[in-house]
Amino acid sequence: MSILIVDDSIVSRIFISDLLIEVGYTDLILCASVEDAYQAIGFNDPDTTETDLNLVLLDINLPGKSGIDACREFTAHDIFCDVPIIIISGVDYLDGLDTAFSAGATDYITKPPSHTELLARVRSALRLKTEMNRRKAREEDLLVLNERLAEMNLELERLSVTDSLTGLANRRSFNEFLHREWLREQREQQPFSVIMIDIDHFKKFNDAYGHLEGDVCLQKVSWALQCALCRPGDLLARYGGEEFVAILPHTDISGAAELAAAFHSQVQKLAIPHSNSPVSSIITISIGMASVIPNQNLSSTQVVAMADEALYQAKQAGRNQSVIAKASTCDDQTEE
Ligand code: GH3
Ligand code: MG
Ligand code: MG
Repeated sequence: MSILIVDDSIVSRIFISDLLIEVGYTDLILCASVEDAYQAIGFNDPDTTETDLNLVLLDINLPGKSGIDACREFTAHDIFCDVPIIIISGVDYLDGLDTAFSAGATDYITKPPSHTELLARVRSALRLKTEMNRRKAREEDLLVLNERLAEMNLELERLSVTDSLTGLANRRSFNEFLHREWLREQREQQPFSVIMIDIDHFKKFNDAYGHLEGDVCLQKVSWALQCALCRPGDLLARYGGEEFVAILPHTDISGAAELAAAFHSQVQKLAIPHSNSPVSSIITISIGMASVIPNQNLSSTQVVAMADEALYQAKQAGRNQSVIAKASTCDDQTEE
């Protein structure tokens, strides 16, 4: 905790420093001019800046730069702006104190200072500086905390819309996306497709390979399905358990059927062994899809229900295939 004393009178410098040393303030920087002081505390050099400067005792009439100019420059400095400055002036300068205070001085003492007065003012200025340091540290802590809070909020937001096992959108963000896109396509009168995907005989897979391996399988299938999606406006979500759903705005039934075929082929490429499956020796999926142009008599959940019903038919028909919902714009069945 250093104190800078700037006074061109050597007698004055020694008088003040002796007094301060006597009461325990030993870290003193004594200078005869503002220029010397700037050099000593690295005022214009960030590499040598004296970051522990807590008080300046400043004479007004100095050779070169005046004490008033120094006050102004301290006040405008990035690092030294908070350092209290006590002006040490002759009685003849008392009229000029106004200027010193508007230039940034915090207090003043007349020369020659008395022991008691000097120590009282120094202690009070140092208390002020300690309080300012404490406040600044608290503000910095608060800033760091706020940044961490903002990061955590972002992460929470991400987690609240993501399925933790697969990293896909979860049911909640699926619902929001469905509602939003449905309204948009209703306005724009564009085709809207929903594809429901379900892993075949997944319970038997868990039974044969264990639940952990089942989780890995779900992750791989999610990744494979996601790879087949190429339009940024589409959404793939985990609908629940081993079921997934894709929402395809601006897509008609032929586009949806094309994507369904890509889903089958991506999952087939994974070639995950499923020795317990009555359908195939590897993991397969069944798909139901529906496509409509939104109108007032239809709701988005009805389209999801249509796709779900088509999925049920795909299961009934033997699994590992796709079925297009009857009421959709294209009502043929397509087989894998
Ligand atoms: P189907 O061919 O008719 O779809 O039969 P399935 O066995 O795939 O369907 P079912 O609905 O009978 O069983 C789904 C299974 O999926 C049962 C459940 O334990 C499993 N499952 C659901 N969520 C998870 C999960 O997060 N991890 C694992 N490992 N298994 C899950
Ligand atoms: Mg299943
Ligand atoms: Mg299921």
